[in-house]
Amino acid sequence: MKQRIADPVSRVPFSVIREMSQRAAAYDNVITLGIGEPDFHTPAAISRLALQDAENGATHYTPAQGDPELLRAVLDYLQVRNSESLGTSNVVITHGGMGALNAFFRLTLEPGDEVIIPEPYFPSYKPQVEWVGGVVAGVHTRPEDGFIPRIEDLESAVTPQSKALLLNTPNNPTGAVYPVALLEEITAFAKRHDLLVLSDEVYERLYFTPETPRCIRSFPGMEERTVVIHSFSKSFAMTGWRIGYAFGPEWLITPMIKVASYYTSCASSVSQRAALAALKNQDLFESMYQEFENRRDLICERLAAMEHIRLTRADGAFYVFPDISHYSRDSRQFALDLLDRQQVVVVPGEAFGSGYTDCIRIAFTIGRDRINAAMDRLEAYLASLQ
Ligand code: PLP
Repeated sequence: MKQRIADPVSRVPFSVIREMSQRAAAYDNVITLGIGEPDFHTPAAISRLALQDAENGATHYTPAQGDPELLRAVLDYLQVRNSESLGTSNVVITHGGMGALNAFFRLTLEPGDEVIIPEPYFPSYKPQVEWVGGVVAGVHTRPEDGFIPRIEDLESAVTPQSKALLLNTPNNPTGAVYPVALLEEITAFAKRHDLLVLSDEVYERLYFTPETPRCIRSFPGMEERTVVIHSFSKSFAMTGWRIGYAFGPEWLITPMIKVASYYTSCASSVSQRAALAALKNQDLFESMYQEFENRRDLICERLAAMEHIRLTRADGAFYVFPDISHYSRDSRQFALDLLDRQQVVVVPGEAFGSGYTDCIRIAFTIGRDRINAAMDRLEAYLASLQ
């Protein structure tokens, strides 16, 4: 039989992150700073509540839009956290943040439509856009700007095919959190060019700024053109449960429900009960948020002490994206060499955009003692390069 895989899929390589993990498996005593998920397990109380619900019959399809109880709890959550007064027609529960992303691209993009995305960005965006015929227009951001986009650079990415702007704050891989002044400028920009805005806020609870970050949807005139994505994965240590949600105007959410219903029927019923339990027990996560902030402080302190590493302090998520250009301009080779010589896994910057071969992504998803050990090894590796 002729084995033929459709071109858009065969053209996309497996991710560099996967390559690094496979290579790491050959070593003992590896410390991985490569993992993009909390090392914390979902609190046992939450798993127990979900499993109890399963025993009591929460094992059937839910409505495509989501479990009605979870939808109500999400609306309450958004009212408290984002001061959003939304109705049930403004929310859809999805198969993780991923489910919301691909439903949004499916329903908004025609072949040739362009999505403007500040770089560096989460590697899944590009294949998802391309697999529905869209095109990514990347916009370079710079370490000296804290990896937040300049409006003039966004302007130069606009073409007659521009359809949407994708923002991700707090950001993977840089840890940047977009400040209010930038969101105001982006609001004017999106309106000027009549762009839809997809705001990926899956790290919404992980921020280290004194103020809670603002959501772009709350700026004047943005409600009608903005869809926001939240997820239980990172903010509630529930990656394996695969539950997220999108909220926005009814004209976009209604077709999202249609797309979700044809792709997945509905999100997992038991996982939706777990998400509901998480929203009812949010206090269980406070110590995790605090620990991520402590780790951020530690890792920034350790990296800042390394003379030739240029560091942009992370304000959110659980990543830093230091510049290693003093040592190497080939982050892939740097990462492979660091693994081979010191058994530390980091992710090469090139995984997040072609302009980032000078950077590496470090995830602080391990305990502080392991972070210290990893930083000792990184220091020894850098010293060996001098
Ligand atoms: N968006 C960003 C920026 C991410 O980093 C991730 C996961 O790493 C996702 C979306 C998808 O997360 P999930 O589908 O687990 O909610």
